[in-house]
Amino acid sequence: MAPFNQEREADVVIVGAGLAGLSAADALARMGKRVVVLEARDRVGGRTLGREIGGRVLDLGGQWLGAGQRRLGRLAAELGVATFPTYHSGQKILVRDGRVSTYAGTIPSLPVPGLVALHLALRKLDALAARLPEGRPLAAAEASAWDETTLETAARELLPRADVRELFDAAVRVVFGAEPREISMLYFLAYLRAGGGLMRLVEIEGGAQERRFVGSAQELSIRLAARLGDAVVLAAPARRIEQDGRGVVVTSDEVVVRAPYVIVAVPPALAGRIEVRPLLPVVRDQLTQRMPMGSTVKCIAVYDRPFWREAGLSGEAVTSTGPMSVVFDNGSHDGVVHSLLGFVVGQKARVFSERPLEERRAVVLGSLGRMFGERALRPSEYVEFDWSTEPWSRGCPVGVMGPGTMTGVGRALREPVGRIHWAGTETATEWTGYMEGALESGERAAGEVGARFEGRDEEHFVPS
Ligand SMILES: Cc1cc2nc3c(=O)[nH]c(=O)nc-3n(C[C@H](O)[C@H](O)[C@H](O)COP(=O)(O)OP(=O)(O)OC[C@H]3O[C@@H](n4cnc5c(N)ncnc54)[C@H](O)[C@@H]3O)c2cc1C
Repeated sequence: MAPFNQEREADVVIVGAGLAGLSAADALARMGKRVVVLEARDRVGGRTLGREIGGRVLDLGGQWLGAGQRRLGRLAAELGVATFPTYHSGQKILVRDGRVSTYAGTIPSLPVPGLVALHLALRKLDALAARLPEGRPLAAAEASAWDETTLETAARELLPRADVRELFDAAVRVVFGAEPREISMLYFLAYLRAGGGLMRLVEIEGGAQERRFVGSAQELSIRLAARLGDAVVLAAPARRIEQDGRGVVVTSDEVVVRAPYVIVAVPPALAGRIEVRPLLPVVRDQLTQRMPMGSTVKCIAVYDRPFWREAGLSGEAVTSTGPMSVVFDNGSHDGVVHSLLGFVVGQKARVFSERPLEERRAVVLGSLGRMFGERALRPSEYVEFDWSTEPWSRGCPVGVMGPGTMTGVGRALREPVGRIHWAGTETATEWTGYMEGALESGERAAGEVGARFEGRDEEHFVPS
Protein backbone atom coordinates (compact mmCIF):
# COMPACT_ATOMS: atom_id res chain seq x y z
CA MET A 1 0.00 0.00 0.00
CA ALA A 2 1.21 3.50 -0.82
CA PRO A 3 2.63 5.55 2.10
CA PHE A 4 0.48 8.38 3.47
CA ASN A 5 0.36 11.53 1.37
CA GLN A 6 2.48 10.04 -1.34
CA GLU A 7 2.35 12.08 -4.55
CA ARG A 8 1.92 10.29 -7.85
CA GLU A 9 1.64 11.30 -11.47
CA ALA A 10 -0.47 9.51 -14.02
CA ASP A 11 -2.15 10.03 -17.37
CA VAL A 12 -5.55 9.25 -15.91
CA VAL A 13 -6.78 8.98 -12.32
CA ILE A 14 -9.74 6.71 -11.79
CA VAL A 15 -11.91 7.05 -8.71
CA GLY A 16 -13.52 3.75 -7.70
CA ALA A 17 -12.36 0.16 -8.20
CA GLY A 18 -15.71 -1.39 -9.03
CA LEU A 19 -16.19 -3.03 -12.41
CA ALA A 20 -16.66 0.38 -14.09
CA GLY A 21 -13.45 1.92 -12.74
CA LEU A 22 -11.36 -1.21 -13.21
CA SER A 23 -12.57 -1.81 -16.76
CA ALA A 24 -11.85 1.84 -17.63
CA ALA A 25 -8.36 1.50 -16.09
CA ASP A 26 -7.74 -1.76 -17.91
CA ALA A 27 -8.79 -0.26 -21.26
CA LEU A 28 -6.58 2.81 -20.75
CA ALA A 29 -3.62 0.69 -19.65
CA ARG A 30 -4.02 -1.27 -22.90
CA MET A 31 -3.84 2.06 -24.76
CA GLY A 32 -0.47 2.58 -23.05
CA LYS A 33 -1.70 5.14 -20.52
CA ARG A 34 -0.40 5.28 -16.96
CA VAL A 35 -3.35 4.94 -14.60
CA VAL A 36 -3.86 5.23 -10.85
CA VAL A 37 -7.09 3.83 -9.40
CA LEU A 38 -8.14 5.23 -6.02
CA GLU A 39 -10.45 2.93 -4.09
CA ALA A 40 -12.06 3.97 -0.82
CA ARG A 41 -12.52 0.46 0.54
CA ASP A 42 -9.79 -1.98 1.52
CA ARG A 43 -10.99 -4.25 -1.28
CA VAL A 44 -11.96 -3.99 -4.93
CA GLY A 45 -15.29 -4.94 -6.51
CA GLY A 46 -17.65 -2.30 -5.06
CA ARG A 47 -21.19 -3.65 -5.26
CA THR A 48 -19.91 -7.20 -5.83
CA LEU A 49 -18.60 -9.07 -2.80
CA GLY A 50 -17.80 -12.72 -2.20
CA ARG A 51 -17.72 -14.24 1.26
CA GLU A 52 -17.09 -17.77 2.46
CA ILE A 53 -20.37 -19.16 3.72
CA GLY A 54 -20.75 -22.81 4.68
CA GLY A 55 -17.39 -23.66 3.05
CA ARG A 56 -17.90 -22.04 -0.37
CA VAL A 57 -17.63 -18.42 -1.53
CA LEU A 58 -21.13 -17.01 -2.13
CA ASP A 59 -22.13 -13.56 -3.33
CA LEU A 60 -23.37 -10.87 -0.98
CA GLY A 61 -23.69 -8.34 -3.81
CA GLY A 62 -24.33 -8.58 -7.57
CA GLN A 63 -24.21 -12.21 -8.62
CA TRP A 64 -26.03 -13.05 -11.86
CA LEU A 65 -24.75 -12.98 -15.40
CA GLY A 66 -27.72 -12.34 -17.68
CA ALA A 67 -28.53 -13.65 -21.13
CA GLY A 68 -27.14 -11.29 -23.75
CA GLN A 69 -24.68 -9.59 -21.38
CA ARG A 70 -21.82 -10.04 -23.79
CA ARG A 71 -19.18 -7.82 -22.15
CA LEU A 72 -19.58 -9.56 -18.81
CA GLY A 73 -19.52 -13.01 -20.40
CA ARG A 74 -16.45 -12.12 -22.43
CA LEU A 75 -14.61 -10.69 -19.41
CA ALA A 76 -15.35 -13.80 -17.34
CA ALA A 77 -13.99 -16.02 -20.11
CA GLU A 78 -10.91 -13.83 -20.56
CA LEU A 79 -10.14 -13.83 -16.83
CA GLY A 80 -10.85 -17.53 -16.44
CA VAL A 81 -13.82 -17.10 -14.08
CA ALA A 82 -16.18 -20.00 -14.73
CA THR A 83 -19.96 -19.62 -14.70
CA PHE A 84 -22.77 -22.06 -14.01
CA PRO A 85 -26.52 -22.05 -14.60
CA THR A 86 -28.82 -20.77 -11.88
CA TYR A 87 -30.86 -23.65 -10.45
CA HIS A 88 -34.53 -23.25 -11.35
CA SER A 89 -36.09 -26.69 -11.85
CA GLY A 90 -39.40 -27.36 -10.20
CA GLN A 91 -42.43 -25.54 -8.91
CA LYS A 92 -42.27 -21.97 -7.68
CA ILE A 93 -44.07 -20.44 -4.74
CA LEU A 94 -46.43 -17.48 -4.57
CA VAL A 95 -47.56 -16.04 -1.23
CA ARG A 96 -50.48 -13.60 -1.33
CA ASP A 97 -52.41 -12.45 1.73
CA GLY A 98 -50.56 -15.11 3.71
CA ARG A 99 -51.79 -17.91 1.38
CA VAL A 100 -49.10 -20.12 -0.17
CA SER A 101 -49.60 -21.59 -3.65
CA THR A 102 -47.26 -23.14 -6.22
CA TYR A 103 -46.94 -22.54 -9.96
CA ALA A 104 -44.82 -23.49 -12.96
CA GLY A 105 -43.44 -21.16 -15.63
CA THR A 106 -42.61 -17.49 -15.21
CA ILE A 107 -45.98 -15.95 -14.38
CA PRO A 108 -47.56 -16.94 -11.05
CA SER A 109 -50.92 -18.65 -10.76
CA LEU A 110 -53.50 -15.91 -10.94
CA PRO A 111 -57.14 -16.09 -11.97
CA VAL A 112 -57.35 -16.06 -15.80
CA PRO A 113 -58.49 -12.40 -16.13
CA GLY A 114 -55.53 -11.38 -13.94
CA LEU A 115 -53.11 -13.36 -16.09
CA VAL A 116 -54.46 -11.79 -19.26
CA ALA A 117 -54.20 -8.31 -17.70
CA LEU A 118 -50.60 -8.97 -16.63
CA HIS A 119 -49.56 -10.22 -20.08
CA LEU A 120 -51.17 -7.24 -21.78
CA ALA A 121 -49.57 -4.76 -19.37
CA LEU A 122 -46.11 -6.28 -19.82
CA ARG A 123 -46.48 -6.12 -23.59
CA LYS A 124 -47.66 -2.53 -23.35
CA LEU A 125 -44.70 -1.57 -21.14
CA ASP A 126 -42.21 -3.17 -23.49
CA ALA A 127 -43.87 -1.40 -26.43
CA LEU A 128 -43.64 1.95 -24.61
CA ALA A 129 -39.99 1.32 -23.76
CA ALA A 130 -39.28 0.49 -27.41
CA ARG A 131 -40.49 4.00 -28.32
CA LEU A 132 -37.42 5.47 -26.55
CA PRO A 133 -34.57 6.07 -29.00
CA GLU A 134 -31.72 3.73 -27.97
CA GLY A 135 -29.54 5.35 -25.30
CA ARG A 136 -31.41 8.68 -25.65
CA PRO A 137 -34.59 8.52 -23.57
CA LEU A 138 -34.80 12.32 -23.43
CA ALA A 139 -35.32 12.39 -27.19
CA ALA A 140 -38.62 10.51 -26.89
CA ALA A 141 -41.68 12.56 -27.86
CA GLU A 142 -43.41 11.56 -24.60
CA ALA A 143 -40.32 12.13 -22.38
CA SER A 144 -41.81 15.06 -20.44
CA ALA A 145 -45.19 13.42 -19.87
CA TRP A 146 -43.60 10.17 -18.69
CA ASP A 147 -41.15 11.99 -16.44
CA GLU A 148 -44.01 13.82 -14.68
CA THR A 149 -45.52 10.50 -13.65
CA THR A 150 -44.43 8.04 -11.01
CA LEU A 151 -44.38 4.37 -11.91
CA GLU A 152 -47.02 3.84 -9.21
CA THR A 153 -49.46 6.19 -10.93
CA ALA A 154 -48.72 4.67 -14.35
CA ALA A 155 -49.08 1.13 -12.98
CA ARG A 156 -52.49 1.90 -11.45
CA GLU A 157 -53.74 2.73 -14.93
CA LEU A 158 -52.01 -0.13 -16.68
CA LEU A 159 -52.79 -2.72 -14.02
CA PRO A 160 -56.05 -1.80 -12.29
CA ARG A 161 -56.31 -5.24 -10.62
CA ALA A 162 -54.73 -5.12 -7.16
CA ASP A 163 -53.62 -8.81 -7.22
CA VAL A 164 -51.72 -8.30 -10.49
CA ARG A 165 -50.22 -5.00 -9.40
CA GLU A 166 -48.93 -6.62 -6.22
CA LEU A 167 -46.77 -8.96 -8.31
CA PHE A 168 -45.64 -6.18 -10.58
CA ASP A 169 -44.68 -4.05 -7.57
CA ALA A 170 -42.68 -6.91 -6.05
CA ALA A 171 -40.70 -7.25 -9.29
CA VAL A 172 -40.08 -3.49 -9.45
CA ARG A 173 -38.89 -3.36 -5.83
CA VAL A 174 -36.37 -6.11 -6.41
CA VAL A 175 -35.03 -4.65 -9.66
CA PHE A 176 -34.53 -1.15 -8.18
CA GLY A 177 -34.54 -1.58 -4.39
CA ALA A 178 -37.11 1.21 -4.48
CA GLU A 179 -40.88 1.69 -4.35
CA PRO A 180 -42.87 2.28 -7.57
CA ARG A 181 -43.97 5.64 -6.13
CA GLU A 182 -40.30 6.73 -5.96
CA ILE A 183 -39.49 5.99 -9.59
CA SER A 184 -40.18 8.16 -12.64
CA MET A 185 -42.06 6.36 -15.42
CA LEU A 186 -39.50 7.72 -17.92
CA TYR A 187 -36.59 6.38 -15.88
CA PHE A 188 -38.35 3.02 -15.57
CA LEU A 189 -38.94 2.78 -19.32
CA ALA A 190 -35.33 3.78 -20.05
CA TYR A 191 -34.18 1.03 -17.68
CA LEU A 192 -36.39 -1.53 -19.44
CA ARG A 193 -35.08 -0.36 -22.82
CA ALA A 194 -31.48 -0.71 -21.63
CA GLY A 195 -32.05 -4.25 -20.31
CA GLY A 196 -34.31 -5.56 -23.09
CA GLY A 197 -37.72 -5.50 -21.37
CA LEU A 198 -39.23 -6.28 -17.98
CA MET A 199 -39.52 -10.05 -18.44
CA ARG A 200 -35.84 -10.16 -19.37
CA LEU A 201 -34.99 -8.33 -16.13
CA VAL A 202 -36.97 -10.71 -13.92
CA GLU A 203 -36.47 -14.08 -15.58
CA ILE A 204 -33.82 -16.72 -14.91
CA GLU A 205 -33.68 -18.65 -18.19
CA GLY A 206 -33.16 -16.16 -21.02
CA GLY A 207 -33.12 -13.33 -18.48
CA ALA A 208 -30.89 -11.34 -16.15
CA GLN A 209 -30.58 -14.19 -13.61
CA GLU A 210 -29.44 -16.92 -16.00
CA ARG A 211 -25.97 -17.80 -14.70
CA ARG A 212 -23.71 -17.30 -11.67
CA PHE A 213 -19.96 -17.02 -11.20
CA VAL A 214 -17.92 -19.75 -9.55
CA GLY A 215 -16.21 -18.10 -6.57
CA SER A 216 -18.39 -14.93 -6.78
CA ALA A 217 -18.74 -12.03 -9.19
CA GLN A 218 -16.15 -10.11 -7.16
CA GLU A 219 -13.55 -12.47 -8.60
CA LEU A 220 -13.75 -10.49 -11.86
CA SER A 221 -12.64 -7.31 -10.13
CA ILE A 222 -9.99 -9.12 -8.09
CA ARG A 223 -8.43 -10.49 -11.28
CA LEU A 224 -8.72 -7.20 -13.17
CA ALA A 225 -7.03 -5.40 -10.26
CA ALA A 226 -4.26 -8.00 -10.15
CA ARG A 227 -3.56 -7.19 -13.79
CA LEU A 228 -3.23 -3.50 -12.88
CA GLY A 229 -0.81 -4.20 -10.01
CA ASP A 230 0.18 -1.25 -7.82
CA ALA A 231 -1.84 1.13 -10.01
CA VAL A 232 -4.72 0.26 -7.67
CA VAL A 233 -4.50 2.03 -4.30
CA LEU A 234 -6.84 0.67 -1.62
CA ALA A 235 -8.20 2.49 1.44
CA ALA A 236 -7.78 5.71 -0.53
CA PRO A 237 -11.12 7.56 -0.64
CA ALA A 238 -10.93 10.49 -3.06
CA ARG A 239 -11.91 13.53 -0.99
CA ARG A 240 -11.24 16.39 -3.38
CA ILE A 241 -10.82 16.96 -7.11
CA GLU A 242 -9.30 20.23 -8.32
CA GLN A 243 -9.03 21.00 -12.00
CA ASP A 244 -7.66 23.77 -14.16
CA GLY A 245 -6.68 24.11 -17.81
CA ARG A 246 -3.60 21.93 -17.30
CA GLY A 247 -4.95 18.98 -15.39
CA VAL A 248 -6.51 17.57 -12.25
CA VAL A 249 -5.26 16.97 -8.73
CA VAL A 250 -7.12 14.25 -6.87
CA THR A 251 -6.53 14.15 -3.13
CA SER A 252 -7.27 10.96 -1.26
CA ASP A 253 -6.45 9.87 2.28
CA GLU A 254 -3.45 7.90 1.03
CA VAL A 255 -2.13 9.60 -2.03
CA VAL A 256 -2.37 12.80 -4.08
CA VAL A 257 -2.44 12.14 -7.82
CA ARG A 258 -1.83 14.62 -10.63
CA ALA A 259 -3.00 13.79 -14.13
CA PRO A 260 -4.47 15.40 -17.23
CA TYR A 261 -7.84 13.66 -16.66
CA VAL A 262 -9.93 11.90 -14.05
CA ILE A 263 -12.70 9.34 -14.45
CA VAL A 264 -15.10 9.25 -11.52
CA ALA A 265 -16.52 5.72 -11.52
CA VAL A 266 -18.80 5.81 -8.48
CA PRO A 267 -22.60 6.14 -8.25
CA PRO A 268 -23.87 9.76 -8.46
CA ALA A 269 -24.92 9.70 -4.79
CA LEU A 270 -21.29 8.98 -3.84
CA ALA A 271 -19.79 11.32 -6.44
CA GLY A 272 -21.74 14.16 -4.84
CA ARG A 273 -19.78 13.60 -1.64
CA ILE A 274 -16.47 14.44 -3.29
CA GLU A 275 -15.51 18.12 -3.10
CA VAL A 276 -14.85 19.52 -6.58
CA ARG A 277 -13.06 22.82 -7.32
CA PRO A 278 -14.12 24.92 -9.15
CA LEU A 279 -17.71 23.99 -8.26
CA LEU A 280 -19.48 21.70 -10.69
CA PRO A 281 -22.17 23.11 -12.98
CA VAL A 282 -25.53 23.36 -11.23
CA VAL A 283 -27.15 20.59 -13.29
CA ARG A 284 -24.44 18.11 -12.36
CA ASP A 285 -24.54 19.05 -8.69
CA GLN A 286 -28.34 18.84 -8.65
CA LEU A 287 -28.22 15.44 -10.33
CA THR A 288 -26.05 14.02 -7.55
CA GLN A 289 -28.58 15.36 -5.03
CA ARG A 290 -31.49 13.66 -6.80
CA MET A 291 -30.36 10.13 -7.50
CA PRO A 292 -30.66 8.14 -4.26
CA MET A 293 -29.51 4.54 -4.07
CA GLY A 294 -32.05 1.74 -3.81
CA SER A 295 -32.38 -0.12 -0.51
CA THR A 296 -31.56 -3.83 -0.52
CA VAL A 297 -30.70 -6.37 2.16
CA LYS A 298 -29.55 -9.78 0.97
CA CYS A 299 -30.36 -12.68 3.35
CA ILE A 300 -28.81 -16.13 2.95
CA ALA A 301 -29.87 -19.21 4.91
CA VAL A 302 -27.65 -22.31 4.58
CA TYR A 303 -29.06 -25.82 5.08
CA ASP A 304 -27.62 -29.31 5.37
CA ARG A 305 -29.89 -30.58 2.59
CA PRO A 306 -31.69 -28.90 -0.34
CA PHE A 307 -35.04 -30.07 1.04
CA TRP A 308 -36.98 -27.76 -1.29
CA ARG A 309 -35.34 -29.34 -4.34
CA GLU A 310 -36.13 -32.78 -2.93
CA ALA A 311 -39.78 -31.68 -2.63
CA GLY A 312 -39.86 -30.62 -6.31
CA LEU A 313 -39.53 -26.89 -5.59
CA SER A 314 -37.15 -24.61 -7.47
CA GLY A 315 -36.49 -22.41 -4.43
CA GLU A 316 -38.02 -19.40 -6.20
CA ALA A 317 -40.75 -17.53 -4.41
CA VAL A 318 -42.58 -14.24 -4.79
CA THR A 319 -44.25 -12.93 -1.67
CA SER A 320 -46.13 -9.89 -0.49
CA THR A 321 -46.24 -11.26 3.06
CA GLY A 322 -43.27 -10.90 5.41
CA PRO A 323 -40.01 -9.00 4.98
CA MET A 324 -38.75 -10.51 1.71
CA SER A 325 -40.12 -9.85 -1.77
CA VAL A 326 -38.44 -12.70 -3.61
CA VAL A 327 -36.44 -15.84 -2.80
CA PHE A 328 -34.07 -17.88 -4.99
CA ASP A 329 -32.17 -21.14 -4.68
CA ASN A 330 -28.56 -20.15 -4.00
CA GLY A 331 -26.66 -23.45 -3.92
CA SER A 332 -22.94 -23.47 -4.67
CA HIS A 333 -21.80 -24.48 -8.17
CA ASP A 334 -20.61 -27.90 -7.00
CA GLY A 335 -23.71 -28.82 -5.00
CA VAL A 336 -21.80 -28.73 -1.69
CA VAL A 337 -23.52 -25.74 -0.05
CA HIS A 338 -27.33 -25.59 -0.13
CA SER A 339 -28.89 -22.23 0.53
CA LEU A 340 -31.88 -20.01 -0.04
CA LEU A 341 -31.39 -16.35 -0.82
CA GLY A 342 -34.01 -13.74 0.01
CA PHE A 343 -34.15 -10.04 -0.86
CA VAL A 344 -35.61 -7.47 1.53
CA VAL A 345 -36.08 -4.38 -0.62
CA GLY A 346 -37.49 -0.85 -0.85
CA GLN A 347 -39.36 0.60 2.12
CA LYS A 348 -39.40 -2.76 3.90
CA ALA A 349 -35.57 -2.76 3.80
CA ARG A 350 -35.39 0.66 5.45
CA VAL A 351 -37.62 -0.49 8.30
CA PHE A 352 -35.88 -3.89 8.50
CA SER A 353 -32.46 -2.20 8.79
CA GLU A 354 -33.49 -0.57 12.06
CA ARG A 355 -34.47 -3.83 13.77
CA PRO A 356 -31.99 -5.87 15.86
CA LEU A 357 -30.30 -8.79 14.08
CA GLU A 358 -32.08 -11.45 16.15
CA GLU A 359 -35.46 -10.03 15.18
CA ARG A 360 -34.49 -9.77 11.52
CA ARG A 361 -33.24 -13.34 11.48
CA ALA A 362 -36.45 -14.56 13.13
CA VAL A 363 -38.78 -12.83 10.65
CA VAL A 364 -36.78 -13.95 7.61
CA LEU A 365 -36.62 -17.56 8.77
CA GLY A 366 -40.29 -17.47 9.81
CA SER A 367 -41.17 -16.35 6.33
CA LEU A 368 -39.02 -19.05 4.70
CA GLY A 369 -40.68 -21.57 7.04
CA ARG A 370 -44.16 -20.58 5.83
CA MET A 371 -43.05 -21.03 2.21
CA PHE A 372 -40.78 -24.06 2.34
CA GLY A 373 -41.85 -25.86 5.50
CA GLU A 374 -40.55 -26.01 9.02
CA ARG A 375 -37.09 -27.33 8.00
CA ALA A 376 -36.41 -23.83 6.69
CA LEU A 377 -36.60 -22.54 10.29
CA ARG A 378 -33.34 -24.26 11.22
CA PRO A 379 -30.46 -23.24 8.93
CA SER A 380 -26.92 -24.25 9.80
CA GLU A 381 -25.90 -20.66 9.07
CA TYR A 382 -27.70 -17.36 8.49
CA VAL A 383 -25.95 -14.37 6.88
CA GLU A 384 -27.33 -11.03 5.79
CA PHE A 385 -25.82 -7.98 4.18
CA ASP A 386 -27.40 -4.53 4.27
CA TRP A 387 -25.94 -2.45 1.43
CA SER A 388 -27.47 0.79 2.74
CA THR A 389 -25.14 0.69 5.74
CA GLU A 390 -22.04 0.45 3.52
CA PRO A 391 -20.43 3.91 3.59
CA TRP A 392 -19.02 3.52 0.07
CA SER A 393 -22.26 2.25 -1.50
CA ARG A 394 -25.10 3.71 0.62
CA GLY A 395 -27.52 1.27 -0.97
CA CYS A 396 -27.98 -0.84 -4.05
CA PRO A 397 -28.41 -2.24 -6.64
CA VAL A 398 -28.59 1.13 -8.41
CA GLY A 399 -29.23 4.87 -8.05
CA VAL A 400 -32.81 5.71 -9.10
CA MET A 401 -34.48 8.78 -10.53
CA GLY A 402 -37.82 10.10 -9.34
CA PRO A 403 -40.12 12.32 -11.41
CA GLY A 404 -38.55 15.39 -12.98
CA THR A 405 -34.94 14.31 -12.52
CA MET A 406 -34.26 12.82 -15.92
CA THR A 407 -35.76 15.68 -17.93
CA GLY A 408 -34.48 18.31 -15.47
CA VAL A 409 -30.87 17.30 -14.89
CA GLY A 410 -30.42 13.85 -16.50
CA ARG A 411 -28.25 15.28 -19.29
CA ALA A 412 -25.48 15.75 -16.69
CA LEU A 413 -25.20 12.00 -16.07
CA ARG A 414 -22.45 11.35 -18.65
CA GLU A 415 -21.49 14.84 -19.83
CA PRO A 416 -17.83 15.48 -18.90
CA VAL A 417 -17.10 18.61 -16.87
CA GLY A 418 -13.78 19.96 -18.02
CA ARG A 419 -11.30 17.19 -17.33
CA ILE A 420 -13.70 15.11 -15.25
CA HIS A 421 -15.38 12.17 -16.95
CA TRP A 422 -18.11 10.01 -15.42
CA ALA A 423 -18.52 6.23 -15.39
CA GLY A 424 -20.45 3.73 -13.27
CA THR A 425 -23.42 1.53 -14.09
CA GLU A 426 -25.83 4.44 -13.54
CA THR A 427 -24.35 6.13 -16.62
CA ALA A 428 -24.76 3.11 -18.90
CA THR A 429 -27.14 2.97 -21.84
CA GLU A 430 -27.05 -0.83 -22.06
CA TRP A 431 -28.03 -2.82 -18.99
CA THR A 432 -28.09 0.25 -16.73
CA GLY A 433 -27.79 -0.86 -13.10
CA TYR A 434 -26.11 -4.17 -13.90
CA MET A 435 -22.49 -5.33 -14.01
CA GLU A 436 -22.77 -5.31 -17.81
CA GLY A 437 -23.71 -1.63 -17.60
CA ALA A 438 -20.70 -0.94 -15.36
CA LEU A 439 -18.42 -2.47 -18.02
CA GLU A 440 -20.10 -0.52 -20.82
CA SER A 441 -19.63 2.71 -18.87
CA GLY A 442 -15.96 1.98 -18.18
CA GLU A 443 -15.37 1.24 -21.84
CA ARG A 444 -17.15 4.46 -22.89
CA ALA A 445 -15.31 6.69 -20.40
CA ALA A 446 -11.94 5.19 -21.37
CA GLY A 447 -12.80 5.85 -25.01
CA GLU A 448 -13.71 9.48 -24.25
CA VAL A 449 -10.43 10.11 -22.44
CA GLY A 450 -8.40 8.18 -25.00
CA ALA A 451 -9.89 10.40 -27.71
CA ARG A 452 -8.84 13.52 -25.82
CA PHE A 453 -5.24 12.35 -25.66
CA GLU A 454 -5.35 12.10 -29.40
CA GLY A 455 -6.79 15.61 -29.58
CA ARG A 456 -9.94 14.29 -31.22
CA ASP A 457 -12.42 15.62 -28.71
CA GLU A 458 -11.45 19.00 -27.39
CA GLU A 459 -14.85 20.59 -26.91
CA HIS A 460 -15.10 19.42 -23.30
CA PHE A 461 -12.16 21.52 -22.12
CA VAL A 462 -12.87 24.42 -19.80
CA PRO A 463 -10.27 27.20 -19.90
CA SER A 464 -8.48 27.72 -16.60
C1 LIG B 1 -27.28 -6.99 -3.53
C2 LIG B 1 -26.97 -6.65 -4.96
C3 LIG B 1 -27.43 -7.47 -5.96
C4 LIG B 1 -27.14 -7.18 -7.30
N1 LIG B 1 -27.44 -8.10 -8.26
C5 LIG B 1 -26.90 -7.96 -9.49
C6 LIG B 1 -26.89 -9.05 -10.39
O1 LIG B 1 -27.28 -10.16 -10.03
N2 LIG B 1 -26.40 -8.85 -11.64
C7 LIG B 1 -25.86 -7.66 -12.01
O2 LIG B 1 -25.39 -7.54 -13.15
N3 LIG B 1 -25.81 -6.63 -11.16
C8 LIG B 1 -26.28 -6.76 -9.89
N4 LIG B 1 -26.16 -5.77 -8.98
C9 LIG B 1 -25.61 -4.48 -9.43
C10 LIG B 1 -24.12 -4.56 -9.70
O3 LIG B 1 -23.46 -5.09 -8.59
C11 LIG B 1 -23.64 -3.17 -10.03
O4 LIG B 1 -24.33 -2.69 -11.17
C12 LIG B 1 -22.15 -3.06 -10.38
O5 LIG B 1 -21.36 -3.85 -9.54
C13 LIG B 1 -21.76 -1.59 -10.29
O6 LIG B 1 -20.39 -1.41 -10.60
P1 LIG B 1 -19.78 0.07 -10.61
O7 LIG B 1 -18.36 -0.09 -10.86
O8 LIG B 1 -20.60 0.91 -11.51
O9 LIG B 1 -20.05 0.65 -9.15
P2 LIG B 1 -19.53 0.11 -7.74
O10 LIG B 1 -19.44 -1.36 -7.75
O11 LIG B 1 -20.39 0.75 -6.72
O12 LIG B 1 -18.05 0.69 -7.65
C14 LIG B 1 -17.77 1.97 -7.17
C15 LIG B 1 -16.51 1.88 -6.34
O13 LIG B 1 -16.14 3.19 -5.95
C16 LIG B 1 -15.73 3.18 -4.60
N5 LIG B 1 -15.88 4.55 -4.11
C17 LIG B 1 -17.00 5.23 -3.78
N6 LIG B 1 -16.70 6.50 -3.43
C18 LIG B 1 -15.36 6.63 -3.55
C19 LIG B 1 -14.44 7.69 -3.34
N7 LIG B 1 -14.83 8.91 -2.93
N8 LIG B 1 -13.12 7.46 -3.56
C20 LIG B 1 -12.67 6.26 -3.98
N9 LIG B 1 -13.52 5.21 -4.19
C21 LIG B 1 -14.84 5.41 -3.99
C22 LIG B 1 -16.59 2.15 -3.94
O14 LIG B 1 -16.00 1.63 -2.78
C23 LIG B 1 -16.68 1.10 -5.05
O15 LIG B 1 -15.65 0.15 -4.95
C24 LIG B 1 -26.42 -6.01 -7.63
C25 LIG B 1 -25.97 -5.18 -6.62
C26 LIG B 1 -26.21 -5.50 -5.30
C27 LIG B 1 -25.59 -4.66 -4.23
